[in-house]
Amino acid sequence: MVDKEKVEQAVRLLLEGIGEDIEREGLTQTPERIAKMYCEICQGMDADAGEHLKKTFTVETNGMVVEKDIFFYSLCEHHMLPFFGKVHIAYIPNGKVAGLSKLARTVEVYARRLQLQERMTAQIADALAEHLNPSGVMVMVEAEHMCMTMRGIKKPGSRTSSIAVRGAFAENMGLQEQVFQMIRE
Ligand code: ZN
Repeated sequence: MVDKEKVEQAVRLLLEGIGEDIEREGLTQTPERIAKMYCEICQGMDADAGEHLKKTFTVETNGMVVEKDIFFYSLCEHHMLPFFGKVHIAYIPNGKVAGLSKLARTVEVYARRLQLQERMTAQIADALAEHLNPSGVMVMVEAEHMCMTMRGIKKPGSRTSSIAVRGAFAENMGLQEQVFQMIRE
C-alpha cells in the first residue's frame, strides 16, 4: 500500500531540492496529486496474477493462443521514469485457457510497479506457466524507455525488446518463429 503522507512529504522535499518554491500556486496541490497518482501506477504491487488467472475454460484442442499488442505503462526502477509499449503473449494450452482480458490483467499486475523490462517479461511468463500449466509460454515485450529518450543517450523512438520462453517454446525454435510471424502480421 502506498503511504500517501510519506509520498507527499517526499515530493515537497524533492521540489525544494531542485530549487522550486513549493508555495507557488501551480505547485500547492502537486504533492497530493502525485501521491494519488502513485496509488494508481503502483497498484500492481498489491495485486496477484493468480486472482486473474484462476478462472479458466476447458478446451478440447490445444492450438496455440496468441494475444498481441497488449499496451502497458510501467516505471523503470532506476530512474522512476516511464517505460511503455506492447506485450505479446503466446501459449500452448494443456486443456485449459484463460479469458483474453485476463492476460491483459496479468500484464497490469507486473507493469504497475517499479520494474525492469527483463524482469517484467519473465514474471508474466512465469505467472502464466504457473497458473495455466500450459505446454509452453512465450512473452515478448517491446518498449520505449523515457530514461533513454529524454535524458542520457537521448535516442528518441529507440525500442528495447525482451523475450521469455518456457516449456515447448524453449525447446523448439520453429514454434518461436511461428509466433514472430504472427506478431508481424
Ligand atoms: Zn531507467
